[in-house]
Amino acid sequence: MSDEKKLSTNTLAVRAGQVRGHEGEHSEPIFATSSFVFKNASEAAARFSGDEPGNIYSRFTNPTVRTFEQRLAAMEGGERCVGTSSGMSAILSTCLGLLKSGDHIVSSLSIFGTTVGLFDNILTKFAIETTFVDLIDYEAWEKAITPATRILFLETPSNPLLEIADISRLAEIAHKHGCLLVVDNCLSTPILQKPLALGADIVIHSATKYLDGQGRCVGGAVVGSEDLLGEDIFGFLRTAGTTMSPFNAWVFLKGLETLNIRMKAHCENAAILAQWLDQHDKVEKVYFPGLTSHPQHDLCKQQQSGFGGMVSFEVRGGKKAAWQAIDSTELFSITANLGDTKSTVTHPATTTHHRLTDEQRLEAGIKPELIRLSVGLEDVEDLKRDLETGLSSIS
Ligand SMILES: *Cc1c(COP(=O)(O)O)cnc(C)c1O
Repeated sequence: MSDEKKLSTNTLAVRAGQVRGHEGEHSEPIFATSSFVFKNASEAAARFSGDEPGNIYSRFTNPTVRTFEQRLAAMEGGERCVGTSSGMSAILSTCLGLLKSGDHIVSSLSIFGTTVGLFDNILTKFAIETTFVDLIDYEAWEKAITPATRILFLETPSNPLLEIADISRLAEIAHKHGCLLVVDNCLSTPILQKPLALGADIVIHSATKYLDGQGRCVGGAVVGSEDLLGEDIFGFLRTAGTTMSPFNAWVFLKGLETLNIRMKAHCENAAILAQWLDQHDKVEKVYFPGLTSHPQHDLCKQQQSGFGGMVSFEVRGGKKAAWQAIDSTELFSITANLGDTKSTVTHPATTTHHRLTDEQRLEAGIKPELIRLSVGLEDVEDLKRDLETGLSSIS
């Protein structure tokens, strides 16, 4: 499609990136092949030397993966996308592709627990240090920047407390100091938020979540400019092999086609449950950016086109009460995954965030009484009834 820029995100989600083959197939085919064949030795040589574009080996490029990459790049408004084997390998490929020993990251503390582990325990082995700051303390971000800082990293909304950071403001801070702003857009997807348009340099995805949307495959993606992604991040992936499988790419392509209507439905169900929980006498506090009481409600309305499908809340009675409520629900799946058609319930302090030290957990505001919901596409009245069963079980 030559005029992709003029098409809406919803159209791009269905159409972008597909090149129909000689069989005239309507749905994108899965190219389950590890390598590709050349017409002759001279074509092989030209491909290997880079003189001629084309497929060589599926560790680097594969047509199904490329279709996914082009579709997601078009939806995020980026020049280039690199599909990866998981969300974590998208973050790893970005860091190892762009950074070297001695470089420094400033990161929000309110990020996916495993990302904290990657920064704190793995990258430190290669002398890449990270300073963690409060997501919405903009002075702290700027103060933490040193001459060695290359990347500012964040998620907004944060998980599980759903704080909203001003992406434009952080982009300004990053660029003033010659740093790149990297935004993990997993919770919002390009349907609700486009970080690149707000000044971010790189967008990260765990495709495992809403992009798949039905809890089937693990995958990830990095989106940004050709300049940043072409040499360094794709170059890393091609050598290190953090590659997305063609089958998974195909599942994600099918996921993207329904992403718009799914996100709308997730948002609608989440908003109803958040308001209902907010009135419940067993509930101490609700975290949902769609509530007018949410401290960044106005910023969220400006920055996002919907409030998202995640709702977190604290029950009265600490960890015991939280576990009681979780164990007494029947419909909600007890799993750490999110962004699925099936609603899930998680106890962050003992699962997704158990690797944090007590101090880090306290600083990040993850209390033992906190419960996180990823609100799915079941009927919202059934979900309400199930949560009522859970909450009324608290002794
Ligand atoms: C799940 C998740 C990741 C990691 O993705 P995987 O596909 O599990 O490797 C990264 N960031 C966020 C916000 C996530 O929710």
